[in-house]
Amino acid sequence: MPRYDFRCRSCGATFELRRPMAQANDPAVCPQGHPDTVKLLSTVAVTGSAGGAPQQAPGGGGGGCCGGGCCG
Ligand SMILES: [Zn+2]
Repeated sequence: MPRYDFRCRSCGATFELRRPMAQANDPAVCPQGHPDTVKLLSTVAVTGSAGGAPQQAPGGGGGGCCGGGCCG
């Protein structure tokens, strides 16, 4: 369940609520009981994928010395 941050404009407290996305825009009440709150922007939804792709090590060729009978 996504988490939403709110800030109370009456006492200045910030608090967070976990609520369904369907209720994301519903008014929240401050823990102190103040109804005058605003929803803060948070990084709940992350779009896109950042970060590099996993690197693949170049395949090493064969060629050891034991196998061809060169070191025996
Ligand atoms: Zn408050």
